[in-house]
Amino acid sequence: MENNIKLRSVRGTHDLYGKEIEKYNEIKNTVTKNAEARSFNEIKTPIIEFTELFLKPLGIQSDVVLKEMYTFEDRNNESLTLRPEYTTPMIRAAITNNLLSELPLKLYGLGSMFRRERPQKGRYREFNQINFETFGSDKFMVDLELIILANDILKSLLPNHKIKLHLNMLGTKQNLAEYKRNLSIYFNQNKHKLSSESLEKIDSNPIRILDSKHEDDIKIVNLAPSIREYISPNSKKYFDEIKQGLNNFNIDFYEDHKLVRGLDYYCSTVFEFKTDSLGSQDTLLGGGRYDGLIKSLGGPDIPGIGWAAGIERISMLMENQKYKKNIVHLAIIDEKYNNYVQEIIKFFRDNKISFYWNYKYNLKKSLIKANNSDASYVVIIGENEFKGNFYTMKKLDTGEQHQLKIEEIKKFLDDKS
Ligand code: AMP
Repeated sequence: MENNIKLRSVRGTHDLYGKEIEKYNEIKNTVTKNAEARSFNEIKTPIIEFTELFLKPLGIQSDVVLKEMYTFEDRNNESLTLRPEYTTPMIRAAITNNLLSELPLKLYGLGSMFRRERPQKGRYREFNQINFETFGSDKFMVDLELIILANDILKSLLPNHKIKLHLNMLGTKQNLAEYKRNLSIYFNQNKHKLSSESLEKIDSNPIRILDSKHEDDIKIVNLAPSIREYISPNSKKYFDEIKQGLNNFNIDFYEDHKLVRGLDYYCSTVFEFKTDSLGSQDTLLGGGRYDGLIKSLGGPDIPGIGWAAGIERISMLMENQKYKKNIVHLAIIDEKYNNYVQEIIKFFRDNKISFYWNYKYNLKKSLIKANNSDASYVVIIGENEFKGNFYTMKKLDTGEQHQLKIEEIKKFLDDKS
């Protein structure tokens, strides 16, 4: 039967392989090391959740809920959604698995999220995120720890990039509600000057007009009331303590009074790490406090704070050339040395030394293959080696060669790496 399927991947999705999966794994390793050092526990939740988990917390009027969720009816008519973000599923999992009895609860996870956005560089419909969350503490030290953790992870993955921390304080839920009311009034007074996109948000979600990139809006936004005038003295003190903490650790930040974040559940501290190397999709990481969210999902009345970073965006900035592997290629000249070859393969296996062999007996081809690969070494086995009971180890970048006994190889590789 003829196969008429036109194979293609779904728009906005991508396969991870080769360098990209190596970078993904390096990101995962760095995240895991940092998480373990600070006693965060890993969690992995299902990709599908009941739709209602997201509707109210993210905001019925948020872009994610209005336009971007992948929602479908299951065969038993229940509405399910591919998770568009990780905070609410983590809270759901903490509540349903009774993890909130000992506080604070510190969780982290990596996984794919789904949003039906317009795909472009750095923006996909399925993308991978790193998420860190701390439930159950209202101390500024938690905010500080999470921001420093984000900074450490980004610095260690992207040591050569300029990444800027933007910081804002949205105050309490009440402060924010009052601010929104006044923003609506102000934007209504300037209705005729706003873009049509912003007009839709005047009453439903006025703070989202603040991060509009539309030229007409920017002029109006620049003269809009500032959140600074609405935050309570306690919130201000809290913010001052965070800023002082960042200064103590020499972490530069920019106080950005227009930073609001896209989802409804945020209040108090909000932050983003931005780069100028990625065009318009310039936010690598974003997060903040969401006091009240856990209670609204049926959990105890405890505060929470967390952040999410985009793995694809970090990966796009990571250098490629670093990924030379400590792998040894085998170049075997003739089948008659198979027993001798098996000895070294056993040695590699036992010592967890990565090796590769194309199962061919052609010195020239094997050397070309090794040179075009990520390998650092090639081990050559021919008549001289067999007779002399040694192996020729060639370092691929310099071309230097060493004749080594099997028991010398491990030390040689350890010394070189
Ligand atoms: P958010 O949950 O919107 O605060 O996003 C947190 C981080 O996830 C962003 O800073 C991006 O790095 C990343 N991110 C969000 N949406 C996308 C997307 N559609 N494609 C790729 N990365 C994304």
